[in-house]
Amino acid sequence: MMEISTSKIGVYICHCGSNISGIINIDQLKEFTSKISDVVIVKDHKFMCSDKGQKLIKNDIESGLINRVVVAACSPRMHEFTFRIVCEDGGLNPFLFEQANIREHASWVNLHDPIGAFEVAKDHINMAIAKAKELKPLKKLKVNVEPSCLIIGGGIAGMNAALDLANEGYQVYLVEKNPTIGGHMAQLDKTFPTMDCSACILSPRMVDIARNKNITLLTYSEVVDVKGIVGNFNIKIMKKPHYVDQIKCTGCGSCLDPCPVVCRNEFDLGMTSRKAIYIPFPQAVPEQYTIDMDKCIKCGICADPKVCEPEAIKFEDKSEFLEIKVGTIIVATGWDLYDPTELKQYGYGRFPNVISSLQMERLLSSFGPLLGNPARPSDLKLPQNVAFLQCVGSRYYREGGNQYCSRVCCMYATKQARQYKEKHPNTEVYIFYIDIRAFGKGYEEFYESTQREYGIRYIRGRIAEVLEDKEKNIIIRSEDTLSQQLIELKVNMLVLSCGLEPNIDSAKIGSLLSLQKSSDGFFMEAHPKLRPIDTLTEGVFIAGVAQGPKDIPDTVAQAKGAASGASSLMRKGEIEIEPYYAIITEHLCSGCKICQSLCPYGAIDFNEYKKIAKINPILCKGCGTCIPACPSDAIEQNHFTSYQLNSIINILKNK
Ligand code: SF4
Ligand code: SF4
Ligand code: SF4
Ligand code: SF4
Repeated sequence: MMEISTSKIGVYICHCGSNISGIINIDQLKEFTSKISDVVIVKDHKFMCSDKGQKLIKNDIESGLINRVVVAACSPRMHEFTFRIVCEDGGLNPFLFEQANIREHASWVNLHDPIGAFEVAKDHINMAIAKAKELKPLKKLKVNVEPSCLIIGGGIAGMNAALDLANEGYQVYLVEKNPTIGGHMAQLDKTFPTMDCSACILSPRMVDIARNKNITLLTYSEVVDVKGIVGNFNIKIMKKPHYVDQIKCTGCGSCLDPCPVVCRNEFDLGMTSRKAIYIPFPQAVPEQYTIDMDKCIKCGICADPKVCEPEAIKFEDKSEFLEIKVGTIIVATGWDLYDPTELKQYGYGRFPNVISSLQMERLLSSFGPLLGNPARPSDLKLPQNVAFLQCVGSRYYREGGNQYCSRVCCMYATKQARQYKEKHPNTEVYIFYIDIRAFGKGYEEFYESTQREYGIRYIRGRIAEVLEDKEKNIIIRSEDTLSQQLIELKVNMLVLSCGLEPNIDSAKIGSLLSLQKSSDGFFMEAHPKLRPIDTLTEGVFIAGVAQGPKDIPDTVAQAKGAASGASSLMRKGEIEIEPYYAIITEHLCSGCKICQSLCPYGAIDFNEYKKIAKINPILCKGCGTCIPACPSDAIEQNHFTSYQLNSIINILKNK
C-alpha cells in the first residue's frame, strides 16, 4: 500500500445512464469540482460501476496521480463496496474512499428542479471531498467463523436450509416454537400446479431432519437472546416444558382417550377438537406428546402407569435454557394467515358458511376434519355452489388489510376450486377476482385449464357485501366489472382467499437480530436485487415468507440460497469485518462507566486495575451510542471521527 502524504483527490462523477445526467449538468458539476482544493482529477462516466468506469479509477491510482477517491453517484448502500474493492485493486487503502450520493439525494428528489438538484449535488460533493481529506487508512479485522448455523423456524424453508447445510457437514440447530416441524405446509392438502400431495412431499423431509446426525432439532423452543457478531453468535434458547418426558414417551397415544379435557384443535383451525395432552397432527415430528398446561386440569389420569406405561408424564417439568455458539443464522419465521374478521362486509365470524381458505384446505384434506369431503359448517350438507373471493386482506389501499399482493391466493383458490369440482363435478364454483396473478412456471396453463376443463367461472369484481338467508345460504352482492353488471348470487358456502402476513413472533426475532423490516412488515433484504437473501446484519440470512409472500417453489429456492450463503461464509473459516469500531483514548477516560451501561451490544469492558473502559472491536457495531454520552470526550469512532465530521460541517457553514 502506498504512503499517504498530502491528499491528491480524484473525483469521479457518474451519469447513472440518465438518472443523474438527465437532471444535473455534469460538465458544470465537473467545472465546479475541479476548483476545490486538493482535487487533482475530475472525470465522468456513463456508468462508474461498469468495468470501464472502474478502470478509470484504478489506472489513476496505479499511475500515482491520486491517493484518495471520491465517487459522486448512487447511494453508498448500492456501490460503496464495489468502489472500495477498486481502490484496493489499485493499491490504495479501501478506506481512503468516500461516496457522494447525488442520485437519491439530488437528482431523484429534484426531478422538476434541475437548478436545485445541481446545488444539492455541489453540497454533497463538497462534503465528500472535505471528509476525504481527513480520511485515515484503516485495517479490517479478521474473525473466525464457527462451522455451525442456527435456523429459526421449522417450516419448509427452515427444513430445506437445515438439510442442505447438514448434508454439507455443518452442525445445524433447528429451532421451532411449536411442538412439531412442518409449518403451514403440513396443513395443506395438495400443492399447485402439479397437484402433488403436500404430506407426501413434506413427511419424508421431516423424518430426514429427525434422523440427520448433524441437526439438533429443538422443537417447542424459542430463541431468547443473541449476542456476538457474524462468525461467533452466542445464542440462548429456551426449551419450553412439554410436561411429558420426551425420551420416555413412545408416542403410543394411550393417554388420549382417558384425558377428559377437550379443547380447540389449532391445526384444524378449530374445526375439530383435541385433548389437553396431544401431538399437533398424526405425522408430527417428533412424535412425542405435549401437555397444554393452559387447558390441563391436572386430574392425573394420564400419569397413571396403567395409562402411560413408560411413566413419561412429568408435571414438574420446567423450562430449560441452552447456550450455543454459531457462525451463521438463517431466519425462516414464515407467516400467519390474514384474519378477515375486521372486514365486516364479508361476514367472517358472523356467518358460519363463510370460511377462510386455510379452513377450506383442511376440509379438502383426506386427514382433515371431514376426511376430504368438504361440507358447509352450519349443517354439514354438501354445498351445491361455492364461491371464492380473492384478495381478502391483500391489495387494500383504503380500508383494513395490507397493500401488497400475497402472491399465492390466486393459485391456491384455483387449486381448491378445481379439487372441489373434481370431488363434486355437478356443483357450480365461482371465483371473484380483481386480477389473476398466475406468474410461476406452469401456473398460467393451470389457470387456463381450470376455466376450460373444469368450467369454473371467474367473475371480475370484488364482492361489496355478503348477507345470509334463513337457510344459512350466503347472498353475494358484487359488480362484474367486465360486463359492468351488478350481480346478486346465492351460494351455499363462501371461501375467503386470505393473504399472508409476517408471523406474529417475527418482530421479537427481528429485534434480537437487529433486522430491518420493509414497509409491508416482512424482513428487509440487504438489497432487493443483488442480495435478496442477506440482511444488513452480517451473517444473518432470510428465507421463505419471512422475507415476503411467496409460494413453495420460491420458498425452497430461497432457502437453498440462504443455506448456500451461510455455507460459503462458514467454508472460509474466517471473515473480515469493517473497522468502524469505537476507540477509547485511555488517558482521557475518567472511569465513569456511563458508556458501558449504554452500549447495546455489550462491547465495553471495564479494566478494574487501570480504572478505565475498553471497547472490544469485534463486538462493537459502531452504533455511536457511547460517543456523545462520554462526559470526557474520550471516545472516537473510526471513519467517523469528530475531526472528520467537523470538516464536513465546516464546509457547509462556510459556504
Ligand atoms: Fe389430560 Fe391433564 Fe388429566 Fe393428563 S392430567 S389426563 S393431560 S387433563
Ligand atoms: Fe389477490 Fe391473487 Fe395477489 Fe392473492 S395472489 S393478493 S388473490 S391478486
Ligand atoms: Fe457499543 Fe459504543 Fe460500539 Fe455502539 S459504538 S457498539 S455503544 S462500543
Ligand atoms: Fe471512560 Fe467516557 Fe466510558 Fe466514562 S463514558 S468510562 S469517561 S470512556
